[in-house]
Amino acid sequence: NISSSSTSYKISVAGTGYVGLVAGVCFAEVGHRITCVDIDEQKINILKQGISPIYEAGLEELMRKNYAAGKLNYTTDYIQAYKDADAIFIGVGTPEQHDGSANLSYIAAVARQIAETIEKNCLVVVKSTVPVGTNDKVEQFIHDFLVNDVKVEVASNPEFLAQGTAVRDTLEAARIIIGTESKWAEEMLMKIYEPFNIPIVSVSRRSAEMIKYASNDFLALKISYMNDIANLCELVGADIHEVARGMSFDERIGGKFLNAGIGYGGSCFPKDTKALDYLARQNGYELRTVKAAIAVNNDQRTILFKKANQRLITFNGLKVAVLGLTFKPGTDDLREAPSLENVPLLLEQGAEVYAYDPAGSDNFRKLYQEGDYYIKYAENPEEALDGASVCFIFTEWSEVKAVKPEVYKRLMRTPLVYDGRNIYEIEEMKAAGVEYYSIGRAAVG
Ligand code: NAD
Repeated sequence: NISSSSTSYKISVAGTGYVGLVAGVCFAEVGHRITCVDIDEQKINILKQGISPIYEAGLEELMRKNYAAGKLNYTTDYIQAYKDADAIFIGVGTPEQHDGSANLSYIAAVARQIAETIEKNCLVVVKSTVPVGTNDKVEQFIHDFLVNDVKVEVASNPEFLAQGTAVRDTLEAARIIIGTESKWAEEMLMKIYEPFNIPIVSVSRRSAEMIKYASNDFLALKISYMNDIANLCELVGADIHEVARGMSFDERIGGKFLNAGIGYGGSCFPKDTKALDYLARQNGYELRTVKAAIAVNNDQRTILFKKANQRLITFNGLKVAVLGLTFKPGTDDLREAPSLENVPLLLEQGAEVYAYDPAGSDNFRKLYQEGDYYIKYAENPEEALDGASVCFIFTEWSEVKAVKPEVYKRLMRTPLVYDGRNIYEIEEMKAAGVEYYSIGRAAVG
């Protein structure tokens, strides 16, 4: 669907994380001249070698191709990168603070760097997820610190990619949201995105900021709703798979995001629900629906641990297999992953944890090193399961789904499985002789 850009812009992108790097690489792919900027020298060095610091399907290939074509560069030298850019996209982090609000210090730091360096008219485009009204402040902040007499405007262009499918989500996005306050900014963003051939929704800056939170929080709500219903299903003898399937035929509901499980994680849903709740409270409003989504999710994450804890006298001295560490398949990202809540609980109780994850083990090891904790990282699911007394499934990796029910029966000391992603049919686990607990479905005792 991609055509090459009729106008090739000189664009710099601040931040080479999931959002910034993928945006930069995809802009280069459609013909713009891109400089990716990061303050992390190590990241820039490995990027220059054609290696992506994050795991995303198809990303390295596009990085290497566009780097070789001279359309894509990486630097820590923001002065060179910003001074004559037509547009600067900001994709730095906006992490959660203790009170639930978004930390805007990285955004402010980039804004200041931009103000002090730009030498020509420039459109600053905020891709990071920021509370409604932030971009007004960013524009004011840049004007306050501006050194040269140039025109600067700030636009909002929230990002909707999902980790694990980031490149595809960018090149084939369902829509592009642009929030601008002038024709100049609107037209320039339209031209930058023209070659993507994706519907562009042009709104005000504040609406664009709100669209991002409203969309993410709606998805979080959908997950928590299904989890809430799943918990009730268990109590009243209904099956959440059957219920979800029945619901999915209604077009007003849709068939996606109806899976029950041990709750959402990742760098976005947890923080974006809390940030919108915070914004509402700041404005004297109680956002009851989003609050409920947060509360359900908090309880959901340890629901299986609690169940297993009741079933066993103790985890002390037991070999526990953990299949899946990342917050979802296709990524090496551990941010807010259920494993991060459950593994420490297991370790505290003296469990001997054998964890398997096809992409997340290296990142997990940085937090929980063998030797410091009783944890081992297995090369494959079988190694983790061998001799284990209990198994927890936290991520629905295809490598985990490929484990046949009889493997649990054959390899484990006691075939006791707590599945947080409902990857097995009840009947097949029953037939294999596995004691099986999942979410919103009958237990196989
Ligand atoms: P990230 O933490 O992966 O990357 C942020 C990068 O910015 C880091 O490499 C950091 O070193 C760099 N940085 C910090 N200060 C800088 C500066 N002054 N100049 C240049 N670089 C600097 O973050 P991410 O996951 O890409 O998320 C970025 C933003 O996009 C957040 O607001 C997030 O909510 C939003 N978002 C993320 C996703 C996602 O799936 N990860 C999806 C949509 C939106």
